[in-house]
Amino acid sequence: MLKVDEALKKILAEIKPLGLESVNISDSAGRVLAEDILAPRGNPPWDNSAMDGYALRAADVEGASSDSPVRLRVIYDLPAGGVPEGPVGEGEAVRIMTGAPTPQGADAVVMVERTRKAEDAVVEILAPAGAGMNIRKEGEDFAVGDKVLSIGTAIRPAEILMLATMGRAEVKVYKRPSAAVVSTGDELVDIDITPAPGKITNSNGYALTSLVRDTGAECVNLGIAADNREALNAKFTEAARYDLIISSGGVSVGDYDLVKEVMKDLGSEMKFWKVAMKPGKPLAFGLIGGKPAFGLPGNPVSSMVAFEQFVRPALLKMAGRSDIFKKTFKARLTVGIKKKPGRVNFLRGTLTSERGEYLATPLQGQGSGMITSMVKAEVFIIMPEECTEIKAGESVLIQPIGNGALQSETSGY
Ligand code: AMP
Ligand code: MG
Repeated sequence: MLKVDEALKKILAEIKPLGLESVNISDSAGRVLAEDILAPRGNPPWDNSAMDGYALRAADVEGASSDSPVRLRVIYDLPAGGVPEGPVGEGEAVRIMTGAPTPQGADAVVMVERTRKAEDAVVEILAPAGAGMNIRKEGEDFAVGDKVLSIGTAIRPAEILMLATMGRAEVKVYKRPSAAVVSTGDELVDIDITPAPGKITNSNGYALTSLVRDTGAECVNLGIAADNREALNAKFTEAARYDLIISSGGVSVGDYDLVKEVMKDLGSEMKFWKVAMKPGKPLAFGLIGGKPAFGLPGNPVSSMVAFEQFVRPALLKMAGRSDIFKKTFKARLTVGIKKKPGRVNFLRGTLTSERGEYLATPLQGQGSGMITSMVKAEVFIIMPEECTEIKAGESVLIQPIGNGALQSETSGY
């Protein structure tokens, strides 16, 4: 049996990012940067005030208090968007707004709440100021020429904030992969047909299509191919028009040979692996017309688990992402679990927290056809290959499912 990480390595060796294109920043959310962004200007671009208040010389207001205010001459007003009209000298202040560049000579800003207006063009300062107080220094966030975003980064709102700050209306991104999903099996009927005895609805096609889209890729659901050479040939030929092909079913021992024959017909070599994992042991992988093709197991949960472990990283790599592997975390197990050695187990579980610690609980019904636990699952609880038992209270590895752990009520702070 092939180890999970060996299988993943073999797969990723065949995956390359697609070409590049330029998009407008407004359409860039969810895309992947295909260029490093070097700052054409620093942030902040110049020293500026963090407060509405008075820019002054700290040395002038050393002993200031409300009982013995220091009186300063206000030489001008400086709104945000304005530029200083001249330097601040001894005994002088400039009324300044948040974000405005601090004038020469001023080394601190006292916030307006700690001042009192006196007669025209005079302010009373009611508190002392340390040098540098309330001044945001030029380049304290980043300097001109710093690499502020790296190639391979997914563009989220924070990256859009950075791009916009850098004045980048257009940005180079990787082309978005498009995948096709084929569901194989004589037992399958489409969703709008009531299944006759012995038949079941093709659910994998829909689940896998949504998983592909969840990675940011495009996906077409090509529907059902019956278990015969002609039908499979036709569907796989159609699927090879896309960047990546995903099928479910037909990779277990029973129908193994049929899909293999079809791959030969298409002039492709498909490798059939038994991967040391549960669920999701049978897996086929190869290239059809140069396009990476995954044959996932038919059992619905097996196909979703295999997608998470193999197809998601492959799609992310094809999309140009540099972060393609799921993070894992440690949690404390609430209920003991056992298994035979030899395969990594991915148990569906829930995640709670108690006194600052994550608690992982395996769900009831772990069979590879059990959908209820897939619906309730927030994490996979990972039992390593040779591990046979993890006792309640012991530490266990967990992997979040999908886009992260959300809940319906706030926990408060
Ligand atoms: P297979 O890997 O083709 O032997 O399929 C294993 C089992 O998974 C079958 O007995 C079906 O019950 C189920 N199955 C296969 N394909 C699908 C599908 N597209 N949707 C739902 N269940 C499926
Ligand atoms: Mg089948």
